[in-house]
Amino acid sequence: MPERHDQAAGSQRSAGDPATASHRRAHTRARDLERYAGLFAERTRVMRSSAMRDLMEITARPDVISLAGGLPDTSTFPPETFAAQMTRIAQESAAEALQYGPTEGFDRTKGCIREVMVAEGMDPDPDDIIVTTGGQQAIDLVAKTFVDPGDVVICEGPTYPGVVPVLCSYQAETIQVGIDDDGMRVDELDEVLDRLAAGGRRPKFIYSVPSFQNPAGVTLSAERRRRLVEIAREREVLVIEDNPYGLLRYEEAQALDPLYKLDGGDYVIYVGTLSKILSPGIRLGWLCAPPPVMEKIVLGKQATDLCTSTLTQYFVAEYFAEGRWREYVSDLIGIYRDRRDTMLDALDQHFPGQATWTRPGGGLFVWATLPDYLDTTDLLAKALRREVAFVPGAAAYLDGSGTNAMRLNFSGSKPEEIREGIRRIGQVIAEQVELFETITGEHRAVTHSPLASPGSGPASGSAADARTAAGPGDVVPFRKRGE
Ligand code: PMP
Repeated sequence: MPERHDQAAGSQRSAGDPATASHRRAHTRARDLERYAGLFAERTRVMRSSAMRDLMEITARPDVISLAGGLPDTSTFPPETFAAQMTRIAQESAAEALQYGPTEGFDRTKGCIREVMVAEGMDPDPDDIIVTTGGQQAIDLVAKTFVDPGDVVICEGPTYPGVVPVLCSYQAETIQVGIDDDGMRVDELDEVLDRLAAGGRRPKFIYSVPSFQNPAGVTLSAERRRRLVEIAREREVLVIEDNPYGLLRYEEAQALDPLYKLDGGDYVIYVGTLSKILSPGIRLGWLCAPPPVMEKIVLGKQATDLCTSTLTQYFVAEYFAEGRWREYVSDLIGIYRDRRDTMLDALDQHFPGQATWTRPGGGLFVWATLPDYLDTTDLLAKALRREVAFVPGAAAYLDGSGTNAMRLNFSGSKPEEIREGIRRIGQVIAEQVELFETITGEHRAVTHSPLASPGSGPASGSAADARTAAGPGDVVPFRKRGE
């Protein structure tokens, strides 16, 4: 039995007193690290923290302008709608809404999910849908179902920062394929698959965010969508299509077909979420997969949380029954389009000529690339002193690259905050560029597109061998190596 240090503390404070709790934790941490160290599972050695989660504590401070999170603006959801729906649930279905539900989710919830998918041109069989606790759980369940330690997984580089901790936890060997303005470089993917096949290796899946990608904001072109699905079918490789942003489109252009639609659901597993079109707080996502895969996913979910919140599912059913969910999405589109335009305008005005950035047609993010001698992790520390935050690009890679890039979110801040935040970040960058040019006497013109990383080509690595991939033109004093 472990010793009870809290009793030895001799405090008069009650157990519920937060001061007692933090006192006990600090005490325990110092003494017991060694005791627990021998007990941790192997996978904990390579687990990585999510950059956004780490930043949340700082960015929750009201004085900090956060362009870091991926937060939708939940203040736009009418409180009276929320109150009316919850009241109706309490009055009419309290016992059911407070009860456990089926692991796969309620049929009514699946009906709502179908509506969202139909709006993007898909027509899934309700039996192929499982309701999950956010899209994040869906991704985790996929990895849990397919990945043994050392298995190969392919994703975009940069990729969704929240998938990095998942792939690390399951000890995947991840290969990142480059992207450009048309999304994943499918030609590069073909080469990677050839190389793997030559070595007798078959990836477990390709993870992609084809529409308004997190973090880069780019969209996979129609031509590449067709080719990616063809590759999946020819080579019998699974593709995980993660699509939280497909409906948040700010241009008139025709929406592109989801991979799931093009494939018909044999090789493409689809992940969706209501987080960005309704609320992330309700934690409602889903996954569509063929029956043999679904069987394993359901077992995985049973072990994880039995079922997704019943109360949340009741709320969603009430909300969709009102029939106005598309109107709310239209409202969001208007608000976010405006914020995107403000951010692009502020970038033009305040970022130095040495920086480049993407111009997203939807979603929540802009990806900016700075001269390769700047390290955005260092830059973030300087930006935080001026009370503004972004996500450093390295969070979107598993091998330490992306150090001269940053992800900027435009959905979670008001236009005047976006403008001011970009002004402050621009100032920090300009100071660092000037310092570099003064010290080295060099002036480097922009020679790269926003998505070209130094030393292009697929990057591969697991968290175990994470390292900084320094490009040929790096200047040591400005970039800490080995982080
Ligand atoms: N996938 C992508 C690409 C995301 O951007 C997010 C949210 N940031 C998620 C999945 C997970 O979202 P949630 O769990 O809230 O559905």
